Amino acid sequence: MRQAKLLGNLSLPVRRSLIMVSTIKWGIGGRISFWDDNWMRRGALEELFPQVYVAARSKSKLVTEMIREGIWDLRIRPRVNANVGEESQQLLSQLQMVQLNSDREDACICHFDHYEKFTVCSAFQHLAVSDGVTKCEEAEAIWRSLAPTKVKFFTWLVLLEKVSVAKVLQRRRHDLYISPSCCIICHRGAEMVEHTFLRCVFVSDLWERLAGELDLRWVPPGSIKEVFERD
Ligand SMILES: [Zn+2]
Repeated sequence: MRQAKLLGNLSLPVRRSLIMVSTIKWGIGGRISFWDDNWMRRGALEELFPQVYVAARSKSKLVTEMIREGIWDLRIRPRVNANVGEESQQLLSQLQMVQLNSDREDACICHFDHYEKFTVCSAFQHLAVSDGVTKCEEAEAIWRSLAPTKVKFFTWLVLLEKVSVAKVLQRRRHDLYISPSCCIICHRGAEMVEHTFLRCVFVSDLWERLAGELDLRWVPPGSIKEVFERD
């Protein structure tokens, strides 16, 4: 088992960055990957001690599997070069300072969550704040709406210009020949998100009818984003 269970099945880079902003309460070490996880808070051991890692017999051991009766066993293959010996001594001296607690399970205390538990929501909010990402007000309007969930998701994809119109498909698949420069409905513009959902003559007609039903006048906005900025 390569992945530790402490933070579930999250990818390795995500686990490492989350552990950086968390406190691990060591228990018996049965949920921490010895080489992969940044459990000593200096970096993953496989990166800090690359030569020992290469020489190690097993790369997927948990912390608890690397210590027996208080003695660390790095399980290094015989006949390795001298550098490995030196590096392994450094690693062992650092491991001597680790105190495992046999009375409890490992726990990860997430500082960014009110309840100190990892949740996708709290992790996102933490990353958004630390990376200086501002909230997308337009997306907020979509998620607050009373539309069915699948409509909300589709609208959100439109806002992000991620729906599979010809221009997006062509960007993803260079081997396809799908004429993104020509809207298959009106043949008057490129099949891109803005055209398909705002400017295509047939779509404009639909918007005008909808506005008419609400006694409003349809004034085409400058961009998809503008649609959600309006009151
Ligand atoms: Zn069109």
